[in-house]
Amino acid sequence: MLLAGADWGARVAGDTVFPGGPLDELAHLLTTVVVFWALGSRACRRFLVPAMIASVAIDLDHVPGRFGVDWLTAGTPRPYSHSVLVVAAVLGLAALWPRRRDLLLGVAIGLAIHFWRDMGEGGAGVSLLWPVSYRAYQYPHGAYVAVIALFVVIDAARCVFGGRAMSEPVGAAPVPTPRGGRLRVAAQPRLEPGYNATCEPIITVRSAGSLN
Ligand SMILES: [Zn+2]
Repeated sequence: MLLAGADWGARVAGDTVFPGGPLDELAHLLTTVVVFWALGSRACRRFLVPAMIASVAIDLDHVPGRFGVDWLTAGTPRPYSHSVLVVAAVLGLAALWPRRRDLLLGVAIGLAIHFWRDMGEGGAGVSLLWPVSYRAYQYPHGAYVAVIALFVVIDAARCVFGGRAMSEPVGAAPVPTPRGGRLRVAAQPRLEPGYNATCEPIITVRSAGSLN
């Protein structure tokens, strides 16, 4: 709902710095979150934070244009850094820098999601293939809405089915009673359901203690 509101508000506000800018960035941020929730908790843990930051920070390249400096955007509707070239550069860096691979892959995915949304905003499009071509690519806003709706359905299914799995009873561990010995009560695992920020169930296993 928040994404739908931000997306609608950004379209109504158009190319204004305020409130168009903040609403557009909020829509970019939420688009990234909705996509990652559908991909699952593992992808979220590895890539979500850098992807969220990149999906908003990339629009800082619009700042020079706002001050009338067009050296980043001459001949293209959006700055040159809105292109596949930048994603490829980040992926190349990820290949060369294994210790920061997840961070850089997250940045690359966040940029890709941002460009995908920009192309569906219904504006002038994105010159994805700069500097090979200055042609701007775009697609209908309805297609963006439809794909986001699909991701929301996947997110909801993850929540519902994840929650249902948690409600199933868990069998207690058998209590060993050795002959001639005292009754031993084995440590019984206690499962405590919960949900993390990605709406995926978390199971916390705690020992209930033991008597010897
Ligand atoms: Zn953008």
